[in-house]
Amino acid sequence: MKGQNLQSPTNREFRKREARHTILTLIHAQGAISQTGIAAKTKIRPGTIQMLVNELIDDRLVRKTGEGESRGGRRPTLLEVDPDHHFAIGLFAEEKKITGGLVNLKGTIVNFKELKNLNHKSQDEFVESAAEIVHELLHDFPGKEDLLGIGIGIPGLVDRKNGIGIRCNYYDWWKNIPVRSLLQDKIGATFYIENDTRTAAIGEKWYGKGKGIKNFLYISLGETVGMAIVINGDLYYGFGESAGELGHTIIQIDGDRCTCGNRGCAEAMASGTALKRKAGVLYREGVQSLIFDDIKQNKEITLDKIIDAVILNDKVAYNLISETGENIGIAVGNMVNILNPELIILDGSLMRAKDVLTESIVKSIKTHCFPKPAAEAKVLPSELGARSGILGASSLVTRQLFEMR
Ligand SMILES: [Zn+2]
Repeated sequence: MKGQNLQSPTNREFRKREARHTILTLIHAQGAISQTGIAAKTKIRPGTIQMLVNELIDDRLVRKTGEGESRGGRRPTLLEVDPDHHFAIGLFAEEKKITGGLVNLKGTIVNFKELKNLNHKSQDEFVESAAEIVHELLHDFPGKEDLLGIGIGIPGLVDRKNGIGIRCNYYDWWKNIPVRSLLQDKIGATFYIENDTRTAAIGEKWYGKGKGIKNFLYISLGETVGMAIVINGDLYYGFGESAGELGHTIIQIDGDRCTCGNRGCAEAMASGTALKRKAGVLYREGVQSLIFDDIKQNKEITLDKIIDAVILNDKVAYNLISETGENIGIAVGNMVNILNPELIILDGSLMRAKDVLTESIVKSIKTHCFPKPAAEAKVLPSELGARSGILGASSLVTRQLFEMR
């Protein structure tokens, strides 16, 4: 009976779908490959490869591109992903802004939109902003029917399976919000949801410094401290999907009070929020610095102001940032000891001061970490910067096509 089941049409259809997925994944991973090359790397029969490749070309997912090396006979035709007929939208939600990009199958952002100075007071306002960006991205875009779906990176704890934003420190109203169903109902597209830091790490894995790296840490340094862990090429989530809370590892017993209730967390000691607080103390003590130049007009110390001052070689700002780097380096060094990553990618708004911050983090890792993993871990600033979130969010969609199952 089992044998009969295996031959059922449903099973044949399933095998065909899997073979098609394998071929497309391989073409994507290789960049360019011939049908003979596909046959050599898979167990799929040449006749089936021919049929499925033609199908992929008809569906405008694959196209022919030049000729490969001949091994005696005719030069083989190479195949590559056809980038310009299918698109995904990547949305990235931050505290006061949402950015969005229409992204082709090679990871080029072909249309970009941004909504700034947002202050959402309810889930409806948030959904409204997301819908506005999607509407603008698709406006005048001729291939609406070729939109594969929309990915979104949202802050805080996320229940990916049920598409729920569990909680987020930016907004007190953000508790168990059914983000995916709200957006799908409003916008009418398939949505994929992920936590913001992990979304950006996916962007790095597919298109940035993490490409081809099996074990890396992605660290986001902004108002808060975020981390995503990639192990053996996959994101590591942990049992309850809360792995990677670098910001709440304790770097000083009885240190500053953290939002989590503990004391001495990395986030309390070395986040953008902590930086502003420490700068405020210096201001009240009467310390002179470019940071405080127009504080009377603005009435507020901003991260931008601190970083601008560092760039202008202000000593006080330099000390604040390098102390932040040293503290972050203690937390990161502990991760390096435990996980022995090949690479640590640094990103986030604080990385506008990347020279000072990277140098102090590297120095601190070397000082506080076991020498072997410390020497093996490269520390690099992200080159994608703000694009990592959009590309990662769009990859939540396109990886359904291109990731081995
Ligand atoms: Zn904490």
